[in-house]
Amino acid sequence: MNRIQFKLFVRLAACLAVALVLGLAATRNGELVPARAAIALVVVAALANLLSRAFARMMVEPLEDVAEVARRIGRGDAEARLLFHLHDERDTVVGAVNRMVDSMQAELEQTRRNVQQLEAVMAEMIEGVLVLDSNDRIVLVNTSFRELFDVWGEVQGRPVVEVIRLPAVSELLSQARDGSEPVFEDLDIRGHVTRTVWGRAARFPRAGARAGTLAVFHDVTEIRRVDRVRRDFIANASHELRTPLTSIQGYAESLASGPMTPAEVEAHVAVIQRNVHRMRDLIDDLMDLSRIESGGGAPDPSRVDVVKLAQTLVSDARTRLAHAKIEARVRTPVAPTAWVDRKALEQVLENLLTNAIRYSDEGANITIDVEPRGEVLEISVADTGIGIPEEALDRIFERFYRVDASRSRAIGSTGLGLSIVRHLVQAMGGTIRVESRVGQGSRFTFTVPRDRDDSETTSATPPLS
Ligand code: ADP
Repeated sequence: MNRIQFKLFVRLAACLAVALVLGLAATRNGELVPARAAIALVVVAALANLLSRAFARMMVEPLEDVAEVARRIGRGDAEARLLFHLHDERDTVVGAVNRMVDSMQAELEQTRRNVQQLEAVMAEMIEGVLVLDSNDRIVLVNTSFRELFDVWGEVQGRPVVEVIRLPAVSELLSQARDGSEPVFEDLDIRGHVTRTVWGRAARFPRAGARAGTLAVFHDVTEIRRVDRVRRDFIANASHELRTPLTSIQGYAESLASGPMTPAEVEAHVAVIQRNVHRMRDLIDDLMDLSRIESGGGAPDPSRVDVVKLAQTLVSDARTRLAHAKIEARVRTPVAPTAWVDRKALEQVLENLLTNAIRYSDEGANITIDVEPRGEVLEISVADTGIGIPEEALDRIFERFYRVDASRSRAIGSTGLGLSIVRHLVQAMGGTIRVESRVGQGSRFTFTVPRDRDDSETTSATPPLS
């Protein structure tokens, strides 16, 4: 017998005893006294009533406690538990219920953590994710998807065709839905800028009734652009190398094919030599470009007297300048020093000076200006040469771009010079720009970091020619 049964038994026995005593009290000499009997009946009825209430309370109270705890848990109160009644047999039930609530709570917590983890992963993904149910309604999209397709507001539960009205995307999703294998392809997404997005869609599960579709989208615009540039570069480089090679082959075969006068042989050999130089220049430029682009040859900055360097370069070009009847000079209001990789700065100035000489006619002037501008030095190489058409200004820094390909080839240029210049300037932490007018001349201006301890002494530099 447990405690509740024992309590009930005691209370029932007490009631019966009272009823017996009252029954005896209701008789006198074996005769029932009606008045006493009536009182006894009332007392017994009252006792029975009290007993039944106590019994009901004993049965219902624990259930109410359970209901209240269930309500609190439902409201999200993780601390809600049934209270123990010490030495009460209900404690067994209380313990069981509390243990059940504990384990439910732990599972709920684990599920919550899993969902949070999943949300964090989704939010960090650079790929756009879209999950559809079996009716092609949206179950889930992540932030990247919203940004990629410019989708905002509540989308959960909405048909995907209402949210994304791009035929290419609809086509991909319907192919995935109707097929058994995942589908993927590049999609051109036209907005204010056109982007290339690689999309992959698959139904899930692969076999059996379709529960939904999962699609992943990745913006590959830049990757495809770089790919295109690389392919163009290889095609251009091969073409540029093949041209002199074909020439060398032709002249070599002609030399080998028959007797020639010494003058003819000399002319043939001269062409071969010119083309060999051209190939060597091209290969040198290609190697320079590849080294700079791959970040190779870490810059080695030091204090560089820019004016002195420019003057040396102008002086080294004296013969070329004299031959082309061009005058060059270096001007500066002060004697500024830069904090740069000397070889890189020398290569930039040399390329710009060579171009200024190449693309100028007789009697032109070249001026190299060096001016401090706060933290940087602004260096410009200006000529009064043939100039560059406006529509070509944006393209001249591209690899192999030449305004006049035949003139450039004739003078042995590779079309890589300015591309190398721009990379070097950027590697030195500077920028480069160009201004030009056809028939009037061009000015290339770039910046380099100024040496911190630069002593701002004015230097009057005599013109060099
Ligand atoms: P290239 O080896 O052909 O000179 P660059 O990359 O140095 O190649 O220059 C690209 C093109 O820009 C040249 O082919 C030429 O058409 C034009 N260009 C460069 N510098 C000048 C300049 N100072 N004046 C006029 N045109 C120039």
